[in-house]
Amino acid sequence: MPYSYDDQNIFAKILRGEIPNDTVLETDHSLAFNDIQPQAPVHVLVIPKGPYVSHDHFAVEASEAEIADFMRATAEVCRLKGVSLGDGGSGFRTISNAGSHGVQEVPHYHLHILGGRPLGRMIEQG
Ligand code: 5GP
Repeated sequence: MPYSYDDQNIFAKILRGEIPNDTVLETDHSLAFNDIQPQAPVHVLVIPKGPYVSHDHFAVEASEAEIADFMRATAEVCRLKGVSLGDGGSGFRTISNAGSHGVQEVPHYHLHILGGRPLGRMIEQG
């Protein structure tokens, strides 16, 4: 079954400028902004500008230019937020939820970058 993308999702509206966002970084193919309900002192969402629903959709169908831009953008966000190991930061966690088992709320691919405090174990058991 092909991936399907709903262009009425909230991040699509942010990309179209219909909803404001607190931008951290914008590149040719990606946008990074602070999460509206931060779960840690650093909580940034990085999204591709293209219409991809999930990590696997992006990985399969995005161009090499989009993928390279996105990956570089995530590193730049880490640097800007002071959590990059390359700049003496204390580290971070990236999370990408997909679909119902991944408990994805917004169906536009996004990578959470969380940091600024110790984050505990990776996932809850059960
Ligand atoms: P998901 O569960 O899909 O991985 O995460 C969606 C994230 O988007 C949540 O952390 C939520 O707080 C964030 N979010 C939802 N709506 C908005 C919004 O309008 N603006 C911003 N900046 N973040 C949002």
